[in-house]
Amino acid sequence: MNQPSTSPSGTLTSLRFDNRFTRALPADPETENQRRQVFDACYSRVLPLHTARPQLVSYSRETATLLDLGENDCRTDLFARVFSGNQLLTGMDPHASCYGGHQFGNWAGQLGDGRAINLGEAVNKRGEHWMVQLKGAGPTPYSRNADGLAVLRSSLREFLCSEAMFHLGVPTTRALSLILTGDTVERDMFYDGHPEEEPGAVVCRLAPSFIRFGNFELFAARGDFGLLRQLTDFCIRTFFPHLGEPSPEIYGRWFDEICRATAALMVHWLRVGFVHGVMNTDNMTIHGLTIDYGPYGWLEDYDPTWTPNTTDARGRRYCFGRQPAIAHWNLARLTDALLPLIGSVEPLEQSLRDFTVHFEDGWETMMARKLGFITFESDQDRSLLRDLLRLLPKVETDMTLFYRQLALVPVDPHIPPEQRSAPLKEVFYRPEQLSDTYRGQLAAWLDRYAERVRRDSCPDAERRQRMDAVNPKYVLRNYLAQLAIDKVVEGEYSLVGELLEVLRHPYDDQPGKEMFAGKRPEWARHRPGCSMLSCSS
Ligand code: AMP
Ligand code: MG
Repeated sequence: MNQPSTSPSGTLTSLRFDNRFTRALPADPETENQRRQVFDACYSRVLPLHTARPQLVSYSRETATLLDLGENDCRTDLFARVFSGNQLLTGMDPHASCYGGHQFGNWAGQLGDGRAINLGEAVNKRGEHWMVQLKGAGPTPYSRNADGLAVLRSSLREFLCSEAMFHLGVPTTRALSLILTGDTVERDMFYDGHPEEEPGAVVCRLAPSFIRFGNFELFAARGDFGLLRQLTDFCIRTFFPHLGEPSPEIYGRWFDEICRATAALMVHWLRVGFVHGVMNTDNMTIHGLTIDYGPYGWLEDYDPTWTPNTTDARGRRYCFGRQPAIAHWNLARLTDALLPLIGSVEPLEQSLRDFTVHFEDGWETMMARKLGFITFESDQDRSLLRDLLRLLPKVETDMTLFYRQLALVPVDPHIPPEQRSAPLKEVFYRPEQLSDTYRGQLAAWLDRYAERVRRDSCPDAERRQRMDAVNPKYVLRNYLAQLAIDKVVEGEYSLVGELLEVLRHPYDDQPGKEMFAGKRPEWARHRPGCSMLSCSS
């Protein structure tokens, strides 16, 4: 990164704010920043902390354009001060929002923004509103027994992954910047009684709003139906105006939209191999975005039961393959919350049933694309898919590489089996697992696959192009994020920039960058941060 200049930034200081959320909804009348239960309010006004020495590690130029900011704006001192919480801009109205949630299946009561502070809704030149939020900028009334801060490792992971997801075409909150605060934060990473000082950081993130299922659940659980209705009406009028004026019928249609968006999100996660890791209802947005990147991970070897979250290692509630079912469960908690507004459970239950249909249809279409078929042909493709998904976990198979290499498998009927499977040579982690039986099963599946592809009568190059457009070559492999963290701790920021650059074009071959597309190296198999993560962040 260049040395920050000290020239004032006209664009940043002229950023306009239109704070619809805080204007329309009731504020906590208490202004002391003390941890407490907050009633009759959607948020509490609170100021971010001052930090010792804010220093920009990286920013996303695409997210910056959402605020009409160019490269010069992002490299100023002012930028680092504003997006670390050290300086407010005119028009900002900093606040933490009040929500609850079900965590690991249990009602957890009030949670709220414990270490997130919304600065305000910026309006860009196109008239779009973006809620600007800092994560790790200090305690709020919702911080419970924690400090409101964030460490570098979790902040870097959120920063890079948000932008990687965006470029993959997966709906997500956006990350503008990663800034070291200059302060240290104490964390017991393994919860084993050995806390250590770690570098503190703040991520600035953007979304239409950060409203979660848990915002509605909390008011419903407290029987505060007036506030529940006020928040719901605000959401519909502000973010879903095409639905029309709020009414019991419109509440139902709104919920249906959330179900559709959530189903589409689950299809995307399964497509790219993303495991959120903590799908609590407070980590689910009404916009169907990926939100709250914590102990998330990317599937390396295809194992639907895998979760990176050590806290969930036993129950595996939030493992890769269960994510659609958990999304459904979470949506059902939202129906519980919305029921008092609608009176009748029937439309909500219909939307929940439709969620399953949307998800399954979306999943089949998506899988057909991953395999390079022009359309999904239910009868035959269903069994082909089922058999593939049984085969993949039998030996450790890198999911990302498998689909990418499958595009290179020759489909000519006369080709000998070893030639057909040759492009897949590199996708296995443990060659010693490749028994004759397994090789036979793979060859048989590839023959069926080749035959199915031939029926589409589509040239190889065209199939490859279509497959490469949905099967990424570059994802934020868990160990890559950890390497970037290690470098920043050493004071070296360039790997963050390089990864950000590579992940901008995840579907392109990018000659010279193959080292970021390879299998996870063996040293990373059991290293914390690479294979397992705690919630400590
Ligand atoms: P998460 O599991 O990160 O979604 O967080 C669950 C709840 O804990 C949310 O209300 C967070 O705001 C809160 N939380 C997590 N980490 C901290 C922290 N370091 N300080 C204060 N609150 C936190
Ligand atoms: Mg959260």
